[in-house]
Amino acid sequence: LVSREVKPDNTVVQLGGLTLGGAAFHVIAGPCSVESREQILSTAHAVKKAGATMLRGGAFKPRTSPYEFQGLKGDGLALLAEARKETGLLVTTEVKDTATLDAVCEHTDILQIGARNMQNFSLLEAVGERRKPVLLKRGISATIKELLMAAEYIVARGNTQVILCERGIRTFETMTRNTLDLNAVPMLKQLSHLPVFVDPSHGIGVRKAVPAMMRAATAVGADGIIVEVHPNPPCAKSDGFQSLDFPEFEKAMHEVRAIAQAM
Ligand code: PEP
Ligand code: MN
Repeated sequence: LVSREVKPDNTVVQLGGLTLGGAAFHVIAGPCSVESREQILSTAHAVKKAGATMLRGGAFKPRTSPYEFQGLKGDGLALLAEARKETGLLVTTEVKDTATLDAVCEHTDILQIGARNMQNFSLLEAVGERRKPVLLKRGISATIKELLMAAEYIVARGNTQVILCERGIRTFETMTRNTLDLNAVPMLKQLSHLPVFVDPSHGIGVRKAVPAMMRAATAVGADGIIVEVHPNPPCAKSDGFQSLDFPEFEKAMHEVRAIAQAM
């Protein structure tokens, strides 16, 4: 169902006046985790001003260690809803399991499936039953085909609004957090009609290098990017080392816009 052979024309996700996968390039920006009211509201205003069309922020965080910050959970969802109301930005947040799916659906415009859950088939089937767009991130060691098959689980249940997201894969390289596989973008566009986004933050995992990969993702033909932005990255509760501060994000947005317009 996700193959371009079956459906030659691009799937366009329509969402509150936005068209994802159409002519316009979209930027989803915000902190890795929602940490406080002040933090999410200030970030929402800053990223909106810089040109982002959607806000990201994790409430239920899948952390490598159980002793790391796990997110504000329900309180985080409420803060996202507040930021949405105050700025008019659409929001996306990760749905970590089926138990919290109802709560997440209530407060978010796009359901994010994290890399660690790309092959959580019961979760994929559960979001497939909903009629809310899904941003499906590529698994840490997933092939392009496995990503497409994960999307197939969602679309097979009737939810056709799936956005694929390249977020870096694990390779032998240790200098960067992951290896951002920009090859995946033209391949996915060729193989599938679904919109393709790129996450340069998790893809490289090095703050100073994120803007370069934002530009590269734009130039390679992605439909949009999702990028981590924090008011004070060194003090972030998660992923500060790869989060841009407001001036860095604003500068990167100017560059991205110039490339997107030239495409
Ligand atoms: C995130 O977006 O903060 C996140 C946890 O991403 P991923 O699932 O790609 O690791
Ligand atoms: Mn993160």
